[in-house]
Amino acid sequence: MSKPMQPLEIARETLRRLAMNKTPPTPDNYRTLYHEITGSKVVEPFPEKALKAVHAELPRDTPEQTRFARQFEAAIASGNWQSVGSAVTELLAKPASEPLAWASLIRELVQQLDTHHAGLTTAKKKETVEHVVAASSTPELLYSRLQSALRAWSHSPMGDHTELVGEPPPGTPAPGPVPTLAPDVRPGARDHAAPHGGIGELKELIAQLLDNTLSIVLAESPELARESAEIAAAARAASGLEELAGLAERLKKLSYRAHFVAEDQAELKSALLHLVHLIVDNISELVVDDQWLAGQIGVVRELVNEPLNLRRLDDVERRMKDVIVKQSSLKKSLNEARDRLKLMLATFVDRLADFSETTSGYHDKIEKCATRISQANDIGDLSDVLDEVMRETRVVQLNAARSRDEMSVMRSRVDEAEREVTRLQTELAHASELVRHDPLTGALNRKGMDEALEREVGRLRRQGGSLSLALLDIDNFKKLNDSLGHAVGDAALIHLSAVAREAIRPQDTLARYGGEEFVVLLPNTPLDDAVSAMVRVQRELTRRFFLNNNDKVLITFSCGVAELNGEEMPYDALKRADEAMYLAKRAGKNRVVPA
Ligand code: GH3
Ligand code: MG
Ligand code: MG
Repeated sequence: MSKPMQPLEIARETLRRLAMNKTPPTPDNYRTLYHEITGSKVVEPFPEKALKAVHAELPRDTPEQTRFARQFEAAIASGNWQSVGSAVTELLAKPASEPLAWASLIRELVQQLDTHHAGLTTAKKKETVEHVVAASSTPELLYSRLQSALRAWSHSPMGDHTELVGEPPPGTPAPGPVPTLAPDVRPGARDHAAPHGGIGELKELIAQLLDNTLSIVLAESPELARESAEIAAAARAASGLEELAGLAERLKKLSYRAHFVAEDQAELKSALLHLVHLIVDNISELVVDDQWLAGQIGVVRELVNEPLNLRRLDDVERRMKDVIVKQSSLKKSLNEARDRLKLMLATFVDRLADFSETTSGYHDKIEKCATRISQANDIGDLSDVLDEVMRETRVVQLNAARSRDEMSVMRSRVDEAEREVTRLQTELAHASELVRHDPLTGALNRKGMDEALEREVGRLRRQGGSLSLALLDIDNFKKLNDSLGHAVGDAALIHLSAVAREAIRPQDTLARYGGEEFVVLLPNTPLDDAVSAMVRVQRELTRRFFLNNNDKVLITFSCGVAELNGEEMPYDALKRADEAMYLAKRAGKNRVVPA
């Protein structure tokens, strides 16, 4: 039996056969021939990169889709075709979800809007529908939320025999949309329906607590959720106090078990947070050179360092998405520019090789001529040789000149491509900075403002001088939104930022502090001057009207100004400015009040 071949021998043999068969030496041909020689099976490489690209494009709009994306990612990480296959099979094997019965939902909605429910006006119901529409990102979510709104209304007693609770007094802020909860969970949305006083109210309250609140905690424990729903139904149906009291034992047990579920969830949340911390810390260690990630990592780190807040999570997600879209298109251009650069360099090297070949041919020929000259017998021979020398020299000269020209053209193209690569790299790093800006107005966001504030306070402590902070809040903005629409409200915010930015000095900083509140940092500005600066912004706003379809809309704001004193913490000064701003509101709005 012959000795098995060593890898080096196999490689050599493979190359020899490639050459012998005149097969192009591509990696595929090499691999096939290699396995033919060893008699082994061709194993296709796992296309991790391509699958990752597919994974990056997967939609993640619903929890279902997100779950699949996570499963797919784990399958790719295992490097195993079988796992990828079963992830896909599992997805396809899921029964297609029921089509959403929009027609009957809409019919019922229209009907219920006009049906009289005690304590619920049609306006109130329309408001709920508007909130739900604005806060639901997918048709499925919208559908299920509208359904629960309908359910909540139908639980309200019909007719007007019950006492009407009435609208809140004017000026009471409307409850904002609650993005992840069903609308009937909003404070105030259902309690209108509870009959007032006595056991009736108690029954309803117990049922609501179970149906609306506990059901969220128990969403992933179907058995407990069922028990909770059953107790709620029994509470509603209880005919008297005694029957209600009979539910105490079941309630106690449920509460005991729900407590464990809630504890588990809290633990899960803290474990997840811990994991995010770990990832964020390690990523920043790994990617010290990748400036384009720095902004995003900073934002995530800041997010997990503070108590979780849905609105901030939402905001960060939206800004991250903007940055990711921008960066992925920049990265594509960067890769293209790099490829072009590589191609040019390769051509450059080829030309150099051609050139040296031409010149070495020339040397050979001249050498031969030299031999012929030394052996020449008469002038006639010499003149032939000299002719040839001249001819060859001229050819080489021409070649040299042509190569020189070509190379200089190539050189400038390479320089250009290199500049393009640098420019794109800078822009990529800059895109990461986007997370510090508010996408609507371009003003700094809270994170950007915190950093600017830190910088200015540092400078103040080092160099002395003064620093004033102004906090402005647009007057009656809700009314503007309500009468002209949210989009016009957005345009008004953009207008105000543009006017303010132009009216303040270049060294001042404008930041969006919240919805319709802005902060201006005024370095080296004592209180009085800061007040004058903000009055200037006000005057500029009355001069440069905001135009909505050629209608002039006057935007005014109330503003509080504070100068940072002594060792005061910047957020304390901001608090004083906020208090002064409220004084300005109370004094009749459209004014600037020093703190
Ligand atoms: P006041 O004069 O007392 O400040 O009254 P106001 O109506 O301005 O104040 P309120 O706080 O009641 O309302 C602020 C409104 O600003 C409510 C909210 O819908 C709106 N808002 C917040 N952020 C945005 C935004 O990004 N775009 C739009 N269009 N509106 C916003
Ligand atoms: Mg406000
Ligand atoms: Mg306001």
